[in-house]
Amino acid sequence: MSEPSVFTRILQGEIPSEIIAQTDRVFAIRDIAPQAPVHLLVIPKSADYRDVVELAAGDPSLLAEMVELAAVLAAEHADGDFRLIFNRGAGAGQTVFHVHAHVLAGSLSEGSLGG
Ligand code: 5GP
Repeated sequence: MSEPSVFTRILQGEIPSEIIAQTDRVFAIRDIAPQAPVHLLVIPKSADYRDVVELAAGDPSLLAEMVELAAVLAAEHADGDFRLIFNRGAGAGQTVFHVHAHVLAGSLSEGSLGG
């Protein structure tokens, strides 16, 4: 079995990070290295899916739940508008292979969240 991901370790309280929202299957934290005035991560509690392509194929309703929570958080933390980014693959900048969505909001410049 592979090591638990950093997000699993946060969820289990092994790495400190405030869980700012959660549902039965999804939780959200602030990104440790924000690339926008609001930069949150929405993450399935299960680490079964490495990236958004696997998730969309394996559990589309869980992907929909992530999008729903992203919208709620963008309304709570900004004006409701947001950019949703999934990096898929190391070449695209993915560093944590436990699927997660970056929720960027606030005053966004073009090209926020480069690799
Ligand atoms: P990726 O590059 O895989 O798309 O995104 C991983 C994100 O997780 C990065 O934006 C990085 O800043 C964030 N991150 C990595 N480790 C931690 C951590 O320990 N705590 C928090 N809050 N964010 C983290």
